[in-house]
Amino acid sequence: MPTRPYLFYALTNSLCSQCLIKVEAKIIFQDGGVYLVKHCPTHGREAVLIADDIDYYRMTQAFIKPGDMPLRFNTPIKYGCPYDCGLCPDHEQHSCLTLIELTDRCNLTCPICYADSGVDERESTRQPRRHRSLAVIEQMLDAVVANEGEPQVVQLSGGEPTLHPDFFAVMDLVKARPIKHLMINTNGLRLAQDRAFCDRLSQYMPGIEVYLQFDSFEEHALRELRGADLRAVREQAIAHLNEFNLSTTLVVTLKKGLNDHEIGKIIDFALQQRCVRGVTFQPIQVAGRLESFEPTRDRYTLTEVRRAILEQSPHFQPQDILPVPCHPDSLAMAYALKLQGKVIPLTGLFDVPTFVDLVPNSVLYEQHPELKERIFELFSTSHSPVSATASLKQLLCCLPLVPVPSSFTYENIFRIMIVQFLDAYNFDVRSVKRSCIHIVHPDGRIIPFDTYNLFYREGSAGYDMVTQMQQKPASV
Ligand code: SF4
Ligand code: SF4
Repeated sequence: MPTRPYLFYALTNSLCSQCLIKVEAKIIFQDGGVYLVKHCPTHGREAVLIADDIDYYRMTQAFIKPGDMPLRFNTPIKYGCPYDCGLCPDHEQHSCLTLIELTDRCNLTCPICYADSGVDERESTRQPRRHRSLAVIEQMLDAVVANEGEPQVVQLSGGEPTLHPDFFAVMDLVKARPIKHLMINTNGLRLAQDRAFCDRLSQYMPGIEVYLQFDSFEEHALRELRGADLRAVREQAIAHLNEFNLSTTLVVTLKKGLNDHEIGKIIDFALQQRCVRGVTFQPIQVAGRLESFEPTRDRYTLTEVRRAILEQSPHFQPQDILPVPCHPDSLAMAYALKLQGKVIPLTGLFDVPTFVDLVPNSVLYEQHPELKERIFELFSTSHSPVSATASLKQLLCCLPLVPVPSSFTYENIFRIMIVQFLDAYNFDVRSVKRSCIHIVHPDGRIIPFDTYNLFYREGSAGYDMVTQMQQKPASV
């Protein structure tokens, strides 16, 4: 009797990548990879690689823990996930990080912009590109506070947020609210060109961080991703950020075969910069304006990024890059310490086999509830490096053999993060319910980043479909 050439691991719901209807999907293991296998009545069978490391994929499931609920939900359950965003009461995680888009305008026109932002009024979608008014931004901030109480991380985004004519008034609005940490998601042009802007921004420290686009050292990769040679811009922006020691995360958007060979070099560069506290790697989400992108060739998965980090950076071992419990199959993280000129992964401070056993093993967690809580606390994305300093100090104090350096500060933290957003290819309804990176809609809904760019951003591929669905009465 013949045997199936794969292992059937689980059943879920996904989306047809062509028409975005919800379809049943098998998760199978085959030839070392994890695949979503879907069937659309109209477009037929589709198999999508979602991980190239079966052991790691299995391990992510052991990191799942009960989610934290927001203080309120924003939409009712009517049409089923993902057509009820949100947050609807069926969502399983609060907002670890919430984006507020200040503007649709940008001083770049990147060929890969998920927000379809740009210089011009609008080429491809309906509404003119506008800055949001201060009144609307204030309502959006209030929506996050109403959901979260004391939001852990808010990110000002766009478009290019530093172009907003009232940017510093927005900063004041943020500072007037109980928001613990603020990130500014920027392409760096203004930071490079306007030293006085950086000086003024630095006066809002602590509790702010620049989330700086930093994809490549190579001209052709920058032209393909950003439509411009930004090498000099990046250099000048980093010089200003170092001058004011403005905490910075480098954000690398990855396209398979284009800039994935630079991962180790970017980590090394980051470690040498006074201002840089970490690097975030994000494979391209298939959404928005995506030119010169062939999904079957160019999609890149979290486990491939993790593998590339391990191959290209001598600083990290497999046990150092772990799933983040709030959304383990989409987020991975490594914390390291920069101490006396050396890079020490957090896990390097422990007996590594014990640590690796401890993290995924729920029985041991029960035996060490305090340590478990502190590890979960540390690995939550809502922990910016500032709060992580405190968590690390507490964690290290748990283990008597680990000395806590007396001069240990925020500047000693170095965080590597891998963020893989879901799109119509890798969409898994079990996973999207755990999404903890959200965007505030101008009408006050709080929507997972993943579904916002597929269904809820005006002009997105599924916008008309969901809008029409929501205009009809729900079937009983
Ligand atoms: S993604 Fe979350 S908020 Fe959106 S419909 Fe699904 S459960 Fe509800
Ligand atoms: S990706 Fe960022 S920098 Fe590029 S056009 Fe979009 S908003 Fe601007």
